[in-house]
Amino acid sequence: MNKDMQFESISSVLKVDRPLVISGPCSAETESQMLTTAKQLKATGKVHALRAGIWKPRTRPGQFEGAGEPGLQWLVKAKEETGLPITTEVATAAHVELCLKAGVDILWVGARTTVNPFSVQEIADALRGVDVPVMVKNPVNPDLELWIGAIERLNRAGIRRMAAIHRGFSSFDKGPFRNAPMWDLAIELKTRVPGLEVICDPSHISGNRELISMVSQKALDLDMSGVMIESHLNPDAAWSDAKQQVTPAALAKIVEGLVVRTSSSNNKTFKDTLGLLREQIDQLDDEIMQKLANRMKISEKIGQYKKENNVTILQVGRWEEIVQTRVSLGKAMGLDEGFTRDLLRLVHHESIQVQTKVMNKVEERV
Ligand code: PEP
Ligand code: MN
Repeated sequence: MNKDMQFESISSVLKVDRPLVISGPCSAETESQMLTTAKQLKATGKVHALRAGIWKPRTRPGQFEGAGEPGLQWLVKAKEETGLPITTEVATAAHVELCLKAGVDILWVGARTTVNPFSVQEIADALRGVDVPVMVKNPVNPDLELWIGAIERLNRAGIRRMAAIHRGFSSFDKGPFRNAPMWDLAIELKTRVPGLEVICDPSHISGNRELISMVSQKALDLDMSGVMIESHLNPDAAWSDAKQQVTPAALAKIVEGLVVRTSSSNNKTFKDTLGLLREQIDQLDDEIMQKLANRMKISEKIGQYKKENNVTILQVGRWEEIVQTRVSLGKAMGLDEGFTRDLLRLVHHESIQVQTKVMNKVEERV
């Protein structure tokens, strides 16, 4: 699936090794804020591209909605003075036209736009025949299909130089984060769309500056190729997203502190040991699959037996007992409780499906 999509990464466009670092203010506020921040970022020597929002999607009206068209010129000036490529968010065809006219190097589609196929298509149509790199943030809601759909629309319009940006998801249960990372969705994207670069936006995941280092490190450990981190010359006074912005000096420290691990190593002992461990995993997975298949066969028998005796499939008491005993067993063996519960839920769901099939099967008359 999606094997027909062809990509070139933004990292290779900018000729940088892992990690790619994109930084700049959440919003371009004034010419001097933009230029000072950009120059300080350049001076750190850690930044490969400058970001700044020109049109800001705000949840409520009456907040600062971005400097608009005049702000684009500040961004262009920042590029002229630092030599760094520039990137900003586009949400409409008009934004695309203005950015291309001004010479913005890389565009990005924001989380609130990725959710809307009409808007994404409008942007894709405006980009047809234009060779500009585009980054696509994940949609606000945890819907992988929407994310892939947006990437596909742009790719079909001829955009090859692309990256996905993981910025976390709106969720009732977001823990300490502003947007729940739901790392498994970003991992799933990497497997569903091979060849597409994934960059992390730890600022919008974290929502506060304290968590940015930890989230950035986790992203690199999951083999993402870079980070987009918001920075501001005076973060507390920022007109948007103040709590999550860092000074250029703090940004440099965060980047310096990152440990870059490679996804493979040529060391022979490492390879041999990894090979042996993987063999064990393969063997255990085979056994797990075999045991699951056996378990389902027994569920099928139980279904048949219940049917013959007119008994319901679901018996809440039995289910509660299963959960309770397995969770304590798992705990005793060092398994995470949440993991055991998730696993049981999946197995139980499938078991009910199997039994339902048996119940509803019309006996064939011979
Ligand atoms: C931003 O990058 O400033 C922004 C608005 O991000 P998102 O679309 O991820 O909310
Ligand atoms: Mn922001």
